[in-house]
Amino acid sequence: MSTTDAPADSPSARPAERCPECRSALAVNERFPTWCPSCEWNLLPPEPVPADRTPRQQRKEERAERREEAARRDVRERSEQVFKLVSEDGSGLRDSSAAAAFALAGVVHLVSLTVLLFGLGLVSGLLLPGWPGRILGVIALGIAFQLRPRLGRPTRDGTLDRAAVPTLYGLVDRISEELGAPKVDSIVVDAEWNASFGVRGLRRHRQLTIGLPLWTVLAPQQRVAVLAHEIGHCVNGDNRRGLWNGSALNALVEWYRLTEPDRTRAQQGPTGLVMMVADAVANRVLWVLNRAVYGLVVLMNRQWLRAGQAAEYRADLLAVRLTSVADTRDALTTLLHWPTFETVLHRQRTLPKRRPGGGRPDDPDLWQSLAEAVRTVPPLETERRLRAAARQGDAVDSSHPPTHLRLRMLTAAPPEQHRHPVVLDSGRAALIEAELAGRRERLAVDLL
Ligand SMILES: [Zn+2]
Ligand SMILES: [Zn+2]
Repeated sequence: MSTTDAPADSPSARPAERCPECRSALAVNERFPTWCPSCEWNLLPPEPVPADRTPRQQRKEERAERREEAARRDVRERSEQVFKLVSEDGSGLRDSSAAAAFALAGVVHLVSLTVLLFGLGLVSGLLLPGWPGRILGVIALGIAFQLRPRLGRPTRDGTLDRAAVPTLYGLVDRISEELGAPKVDSIVVDAEWNASFGVRGLRRHRQLTIGLPLWTVLAPQQRVAVLAHEIGHCVNGDNRRGLWNGSALNALVEWYRLTEPDRTRAQQGPTGLVMMVADAVANRVLWVLNRAVYGLVVLMNRQWLRAGQAAEYRADLLAVRLTSVADTRDALTTLLHWPTFETVLHRQRTLPKRRPGGGRPDDPDLWQSLAEAVRTVPPLETERRLRAAARQGDAVDSSHPPTHLRLRMLTAAPPEQHRHPVVLDSGRAALIEAELAGRRERLAVDLL
C-alpha cells in the first residue's frame, strides 16, 4: 500500500471543493487524500499504473486482482459471521471450532507418527527385509524429520533484562497478575508497528514483543490496553499458536512442499519413454496429494479463523476490563496509522544525517516527529482509514478480525465494570520511558 501523508508543512488553504459524485462539500487537507464521507468517493485513491504495460500483463494483473478480491470477500464474509456469533453468544463458538481445529490437528499428528513408525519398521528390517526396504525406511525417516514439531526459539535480539527495566516488567507482571496469567519470561522491544506475544522453545519461554514506534504514540492507558490484549492471549483460550495446533500446521505446510509436482524435469528434454511415463504418473499422484493437503490447510485455516478471531475479541475485552472502552478503542484505532509511521520514516531518511552531538537542539528526532505526526492526523483521515480498512479487509491475516469489527465489538460489549483498572501514572510512565531510552536510540539508528 502506498503512503498517504504528504509533507506536513503545507496548511490546508485551498478553496472549498465539491465531490464530483454527489456534490457534497469536501474538506481538503493537503497532507492526506481528499475523499467524500457521504458517498465514499476516492476512499481508496487509485494506485498509479505504470504506462508501459503490455495488454497481456494488464490482463494478468486484472486476473490477480480479481482473485485477491475474491479471497478478501471470503475472509470478510467469514469475519462478519464470526463477529455475529461472538457478539450474540461467544461461548458455543469457542467449543465447537476449537474442538474441530484440535481434532484436525490430531489427524495430522497421527499421519506424522505413522510415517515415523513406518520408517523405523523399514530401517530395522521388521517390515521388509533387504536393502530396498532399508532405503525406503531412510526416506520415510527423512520425511518424519521434516514433519517434526517445531518449537521455535525465543528471540535474543532486543531482549530487555529484568534488572535494567524493572518498571516495565513490573507493569507487565501486574497486568498478568490481574488477568490471572503467568508472568512473562522476557520482553523484546523491536521496530514494528505492532505488539505480540508468543510461547517458544522446549521450555515454553513466554515472550512479549513491543513495537517501539507504536508504543511511542500511545497514551499511557492505551499502552496498558495493548499490553493487556497481548497478555490476554494466555488466558483467552487461544490455542492456535500452541504446540498441538501450531506444529500440525507446520507439518501440513511441509507436506504441501514435499508433494509439489516437479515441473522442471519435464522441460529438460527427452530422457526416454519409460522415464517420461514414470514422471507423468508420479506428477499426477503428487498433484492429487498436493491438492488434498491444500484442502486440509484451507480447512484448518477456516477453523482457525473462527477460533482465532473469537480469541482476539476476548483479548480486546480483557483489555477493556483493565482499562476502559475508550482506551482500548483509541489503541486499536492507532493501529490504523501505520502509513503515517512509514511517511515519517521516509521523511527522516531523506533529511541530512545528524552528526552525533550535532544538529540544532530543537530539531525533533524520529520519535518526536512520529508522535507529532500521529497526534495531528485529523479525525476525517482516521475515518477514511477506518472505512478503507473495512472495505479492503486490513487484518494481517485471517486470524485477526478487521479493526472496524473489533471496534464495533467494543461498543457491543456489556457496560464496563471498573473492577481493578490498572493505572499507569505519569511518574511510572516516565520511568519506563527512561528505561527504554537506550533501545530508542539504537532502534532509531537501525531504522534510519
Ligand atoms: Zn460524494
Ligand atoms: Zn491479539
